[in-house]
Amino acid sequence: LPLAMGFVGLGAMGKPMATNLAKALPAGAHLYVHDIVAAAVDELHALFPTIVVECGSAREVAQNADVVLTMLPEGAHVKSVYLNPSTGIMAALNQTSTKLLIDSSTIDTATNLHIRSQLATHSPGTSFYDAPVSGGVLGAERATVAFFAGASPSDPTLPRLTCLLQPMGSKTIPCGGASLGLAAKLSNNYLSGLITIATSEAMDMGMRAGIRADVLASVFKAGTAQNTICDVFNPVPGVCAAAPSSHGYVGGFRVQLMRKDIGLAVALARHVGARNVLGAAGLGVYAAASEAEDCRDRDSRVVYRYLGGKEH
Ligand code: NAD
Repeated sequence: LPLAMGFVGLGAMGKPMATNLAKALPAGAHLYVHDIVAAAVDELHALFPTIVVECGSAREVAQNADVVLTMLPEGAHVKSVYLNPSTGIMAALNQTSTKLLIDSSTIDTATNLHIRSQLATHSPGTSFYDAPVSGGVLGAERATVAFFAGASPSDPTLPRLTCLLQPMGSKTIPCGGASLGLAAKLSNNYLSGLITIATSEAMDMGMRAGIRADVLASVFKAGTAQNTICDVFNPVPGVCAAAPSSHGYVGGFRVQLMRKDIGLAVALARHVGARNVLGAAGLGVYAAASEAEDCRDRDSRVVYRYLGGKEH
């Protein structure tokens, strides 16, 4: 790992990822960090006072670090962190810079490609990759997230990218080229978001017909409906003891984030000319659940509750 690394965006995912990165840095190395929430930066600094260096802007991070990771909520935040003329990362670069920049946020592919082309013009020696993650906050804490990299398997930078991400995750999958890590992530969340709705409806139907929830879950597991949402994150409270559904849907993957990702996936489908008959219905469910008071801010599997599923 290089002696000067940077991290911008220390939220639910970014903080544990930056923590794992700080732990892996060699002696004498520094991690330059920035977040608009000062408390997030202070907290990380308190954990690693000799390693973490607090910066007032993304620009300052990029001035000091050779490799910068970003983990931000949405496309607009990512755009401003990279391209803002006074505070952004690009403002720290020039024609001869050779930095490596990695964005792990889940955003639209168009914003990613726009940033990439702006950087390529301004600083041709700088590399920019999309590498969104799957695995949630728990995965970020345990360093088991998977990175979906916007890189071809033959990209000469891929081994370095994989090595840099390794302290934060269990694997890096090259998805083919620029912005395709994002396309992969959106395809993944489209599928898992819709499986959640289908699992919720199927569980509720079987239970209302008189089958016990745990019996139904074992039927799906033994049958062709087997899926991780059913086995590990079952939306019905009490089926999986460790799942957010068994703890009031607290923790996990926020329903508003699933709404954002399905929305981005539906837009991607339109952009590439892919049919998705289930997308609009799924988006409607997540949008409404995001607004409902007993569902908002809870784990996305709360759609079971939103759909009127039996909870006892
Ligand atoms: P979060 O809202 O908890 O954290 C985002 C952080 O970015 C916050 O600390 C915020 O203050 C900071 N930020 C916002 N604008 C900034 C700016 N201009 N400059 C500096 N910092 C700024 O979000 P999160 O849950 O960590 O998610 C981050 C991304 O990862 C999202 O795109 C999300 O979809 C994706 N993701 C989240 C999960 C999850 O389970 N939470 C899982 C996989 C992927």
